[in-house]
Amino acid sequence: MNQKKIRVFALSKLDWIRKQRLKIRNQVREKPLKYINQETHYFRGHSYQLKVLEDNKPPFVELVKNEILIHVPTGADMEKRRSILNEWYQKQLMELLNPLIKKWELKLVVSVKRFSIRSMKSRWGSCTPKTHGIRFNLELVKKSPECLEYIVVHELVHLLEASHNNRFKALMDQFYPNWKLCRKELNGLQIKS
Ligand SMILES: [Zn+2]
Repeated sequence: MNQKKIRVFALSKLDWIRKQRLKIRNQVREKPLKYINQETHYFRGHSYQLKVLEDNKPPFVELVKNEILIHVPTGADMEKRRSILNEWYQKQLMELLNPLIKKWELKLVVSVKRFSIRSMKSRWGSCTPKTHGIRFNLELVKKSPECLEYIVVHELVHLLEASHNNRFKALMDQFYPNWKLCRKELNGLQIKS
């Protein structure tokens, strides 16, 4: 084979290689969480070690240095530990989203009627322009602040332009020039926005 043929062959395999890489990355990510001591969990783009403390106080969660401490009732099973942590995540995300949505409502001159946080398998967010309703994926609380803000801008821009056409992209370029990098970071995890 000459150089050119080799190049063409390699290029034809690139797509396949990318897909395999994603698959492997996702397999790593999808290792189910057990909510046990020293397990790695994420918050705002940083990794933390989980520390489970059994005490008989009402459950609460705190960040101490590089640890997420979850205080749970004695004997709390995995489902209970999971729900205590997820409730905390939900509250944190709500507190992060409120000011971000206000900020971008002003910048884009749009109004969000209501928004909610859901656990979603295949989307980072979604917008129903008709009702001005927006949903955010709970997993966003684990991503960097830039990525979270990108999804807020993305969904609010949908109130100006419903589809992902050139006008949508131009608005994203104008208001959040970093959007492609953020999309790349998030789509490495294969969930769409
Ligand atoms: Zn979209």
